[in-house]
Amino acid sequence: MTMRQLTVLGTASQVPTRHRNHNGYLLRWDDEVMLFDPGEGTQRQMLLAGLAVTPLRRICVTHFHGDHALGLPGIIQRISLDKVPHPVEVHYPAGGQEFFDRLRHATSFYDVADLQPVPVSDGFRVETSAGALTALPLRHSIETYGYRLAEPDSHRMVPSLLAAHGIAGPAIGELQRTGRLGRVTLEQVSAPRPGQRFAFVMDTGLCDNVFHLAEGADLLVIESTFLAEDAAMAAQVGHLTAGQAASVARQSGVRTLVLTHFSQRYADSTRFLDEARVEFNGDIVLAEDLLRVPVPPRLGSSDERASASRR
Ligand SMILES: [Zn+2]
Ligand SMILES: [Zn+2]
Repeated sequence: MTMRQLTVLGTASQVPTRHRNHNGYLLRWDDEVMLFDPGEGTQRQMLLAGLAVTPLRRICVTHFHGDHALGLPGIIQRISLDKVPHPVEVHYPAGGQEFFDRLRHATSFYDVADLQPVPVSDGFRVETSAGALTALPLRHSIETYGYRLAEPDSHRMVPSLLAAHGIAGPAIGELQRTGRLGRVTLEQVSAPRPGQRFAFVMDTGLCDNVFHLAEGADLLVIESTFLAEDAAMAAQVGHLTAGQAASVARQSGVRTLVLTHFSQRYADSTRFLDEARVEFNGDIVLAEDLLRVPVPPRLGSSDERASASRR
């Protein structure tokens, strides 16, 4: 199925609030369905969002603080209860193995879950049906990794160019496979189809890897724990301000920026948006629980041209 969409399940740092659950983000990228950082209550948030665990292929944990991982036991037991018929890979910092082992077996249950732990260390890379999933270490109080999903670049055939060269039917497939048909090359009848990219950057102070992860992302989900007035504390404890997160987006050529992981100390969350807007003039989404955020249409696609003409 072709659908690329993020469902935000929770947006609170440290403790849940009346309006914000602990973290939780479900990315549907066609058939690759990935759950990032299931904090406490994620199982119920999925219910409220109308999402089942059955399509889940992968769980990615950035680090073992409770607001990013306390939901693992519930999700794992639900995967077992619902008899998810395929393996589910689980990624988490390799140094946090003891935490994973405890959460994996937190209580007694009839365990038929086919969970496949693939811990993350520096240089991590796995191939998924959506492209390469990589991870880079971040700067936080404990071992933490950010994730990046990158679809390979490819090309799409342009019907008018094919027709102009008199290419039709099975010849199109041959041209795609071999890159050439007689004197016609693939480049003459196709247009580049840039791969789409998703980045997930949680608890961290500003560091080079934040930029490496975010580079050219169509959709960047990034923590925005603090406001500028608390920038000194943010740096000290390994967190970002909204302005810093937005500045990363600007410098990295991000298209849609999703701010999340808000501290409960601020009553008015629109201030995050105000501070981010100063730094970044692309699309900014202030995450709310149960919000759905589509991956923006591919650059150069007809969808993208249609949405541009509506602006
Ligand atoms: Zn956190
Ligand atoms: Zn943390």
